[in-house]
Amino acid sequence: MSALAFTKLELAAVSRQFKGVTALADFSLTIRNGEFVALLGPSGCGKSTTLNCLAGLLPLTAGAIYLDDERVDLLPPERRGFGMVFQNYALFPHMSVRKNIAFGLQMQRVSRHEIVRKVDWALDLIHLTEHGDKRPNQLSGGQQQRVAIARAIVMEPKLVLMDEPLSNLDAKLRHEMRTELRRLHRELNLTTVYVTHDQEEALSLADRLVVLRNGRMQQAGAPEEVYARPANAFVADFMGYRNQLSMVAGPVEGDPTLTRLSGGGIELVANGTVRGQATVAIRPDGLTLGRTGVNDIPGVVRTVEYQGRDYEIEIEVNETTSLFARINQRVTAGDQVVVNVPRDHVMVYAAGADPEADESRRDPIHERETV
Ligand code: ATP
Repeated sequence: MSALAFTKLELAAVSRQFKGVTALADFSLTIRNGEFVALLGPSGCGKSTTLNCLAGLLPLTAGAIYLDDERVDLLPPERRGFGMVFQNYALFPHMSVRKNIAFGLQMQRVSRHEIVRKVDWALDLIHLTEHGDKRPNQLSGGQQQRVAIARAIVMEPKLVLMDEPLSNLDAKLRHEMRTELRRLHRELNLTTVYVTHDQEEALSLADRLVVLRNGRMQQAGAPEEVYARPANAFVADFMGYRNQLSMVAGPVEGDPTLTRLSGGGIELVANGTVRGQATVAIRPDGLTLGRTGVNDIPGVVRTVEYQGRDYEIEIEVNETTSLFARINQRVTAGDQVVVNVPRDHVMVYAAGADPEADESRRDPIHERETV
């Protein structure tokens, strides 16, 4: 399988501008063979631009892309050997499933015998052998998306590029397809770059997340790392740190590793050495109810949202500040509670620091290989 044909793909200081809009700025990332990389960020942050630059659908304004030692950004899309799967499937409506999957192979003048063999293999892989003679409109959305995936992987691409491939599916199907994508990635030793604005999807699928904002990389790292240690307040917000407070950080007498935070009418002690104006971020599931002796804040439950397995509640701690907690006890609006904020769960970021200048946004693998 050609997936083994390269060791790494490198985006080196790639930029792309559109008449005054910087869609992607100085973007450097090294993707290893076999990796599943998710590009994550809000609408307009440059995810699709990155993918289109990789695919060859958009020329770069600056920088270069290398597949091992070969420069590929000047090659036309068809000579890069990458497969693409789009959000809208982009299947040919007048062709059967089989013909859709066979199309790229026919363009490459692969022998008829070989095409039959490969299409059979791809249909089996996506569990649609029974549906090969149907037209796309006779299939469900999830089945159509699987055909689109089969059409890409039947070409045995070096790299599979996926642009929000599951966003047109309902929640249950999206979840099923996530499992399916992960299985295909593993079974076929694919290298995948996957664009999404859904952090849960990115966390569950990827070996590595790359978070973008305004065309700039904010953080690249393992899902667990990005989730537990967001590089800045923007990434924290995107990772579900719903509690974001503007506070002032000062020293804790006798312990230089700690920070005393005050603001919004509350006081907290956290780890870290940030001093001065700060943004404090805490995930709702980092908070618990009940007194522990440190960082206990009394308040009144204002709203309770049932989330299936637990509850997300809003606790008003004073006239200006509310905290959101995710808990599994049943509480009722109006209950007096004490919310505890464990020190380890408090992220403190110096306010005013330019997140785009943050060292941690650099891709560590790329840095290592290029110095
Ligand atoms: P979404 O999740 O909404 O698809 P995205 O993260 O994929 O967003 P891009 O489509 O890469 O974002 O767009 C990045 C920026 O570049 C945006 O500000 C967008 O308006 C701009 N942009 C993208 N394509 C063009 C174009 N052809 N002409 C002008 N500006 C563009």
